[in-house]
Amino acid sequence: MHTQLINLGFHGIGHPIGRDFGPGERDYWVSPALFHATLDACAGRSDVNLSFDDGNWSDVAVVLPALREHQLPATFFINAARLGQPGFIDRHDLRELVSAGMRIGNHGLAHLDLTRLEPARREHEITQGRRLLEELSGAAVHTFAVAYGIYDDAVLEQLRKLDYEHVYTSDGGAAEPQAWLQPREHVKAHHTALDVARLLTQD
Ligand SMILES: [Zn+2]
Repeated sequence: MHTQLINLGFHGIGHPIGRDFGPGERDYWVSPALFHATLDACAGRSDVNLSFDDGNWSDVAVVLPALREHQLPATFFINAARLGQPGFIDRHDLRELVSAGMRIGNHGLAHLDLTRLEPARREHEITQGRRLLEELSGAAVHTFAVAYGIYDDAVLEQLRKLDYEHVYTSDGGAAEPQAWLQPREHVKAHHTALDVARLLTQD
């Protein structure tokens, strides 16, 4: 037997502030009650790896205090081009996450579907996103999460060349801790605490 990992992903908590939901985004914002219930269920679980995508305002206002309270680490996958835009965290928030011991991952410069970009544009989206995040956060960025969970062989090939330690998808299921490609489960608006418990007990 070996331990598998559950990569559990969130987006926003509550509602967007200062902007509308993006296309298809509504189902990815969860209630504060479900978020807190999930953290309660994750406390003390070293086989759960939490992540928060998109750099929403709730990352620092809601998520960070709760992670501190539960003494849970997490990775925040950020789009550098959105920093400081209405509804998103800014560069000071980014530093606050890092100084609280949180990891920063690249979610692409501007949250684009990488499979629809020409190779040069795709490389810019990946490398410029990382460069800005490292510059603004003062921390190294070793992980990438593909926007919308969409990727193909060309995207993976480019990410391998850029020496990412892990690439996160939205494919679902448990993960092998050492695997380069890491599937994630996402907590969604329609989930109940029981649904989340099921996500946390797969084997
Ligand atoms: Zn995203």
